[in-house]
Amino acid sequence: MKAWLRFLPSIINKAIISDAIKIYEIDFNILRAYITPRGGKMLVEINGPQENESIQYMEEQGIQVTPIMRVVTKDLEKCMDCGACVSVCPVNAICIKEDWMVEIDNQNCIGCGFCINSCPTKSIDFME
Ligand code: SF4
Ligand code: SF4
Repeated sequence: MKAWLRFLPSIINKAIISDAIKIYEIDFNILRAYITPRGGKMLVEINGPQENESIQYMEEQGIQVTPIMRVVTKDLEKCMDCGACVSVCPVNAICIKEDWMVEIDNQNCIGCGFCINSCPTKSIDFME
C-alpha cells in the first residue's frame, strides 16, 4: 500500500522505520520525503504479509500514517487533455485513451511530481 507518513520533531531522530522493517520484514520504498528538524512527511510504499502490523507499530511510536488510494489526482474540470503530462512521466503511468482523454494509472505512479510541474492548467496535484 501507499501512504503518507508524518513525523513530529520529537520523533524525527528515532529509528522507528528501520525497526519496523526489521520486526515486520516489510518492503519499504520511499517515493518522496520532506524531512527537516521541525518534522516532516514521506510518501512511501509498504508491502509484506505484516504491513498492517507494521503500520500499527509506526502509529504507536508516534508516526501519523495516512494510507492513500491515489498518489496524484487530476481535476477533470481544469484538465483540457492536452497531453503535456504524458511524455514527462518516467514510468508511463499516464496515457491518452481512445476517446482522447488523459488518464493516470495510480498503481504505477511513483510520485515523482513531473506531471504536476508540466501541467499548464495546474490540474494535477498530490493526494494528501
Ligand atoms: S498536462 Fe494538465 S491539462 Fe494537459 S492533459 Fe495533463 S493534466 Fe490535463
Ligand atoms: S507523479 Fe510522476 S510517476 Fe506519477 S503520474 Fe505524475 S509523472 Fe507519472
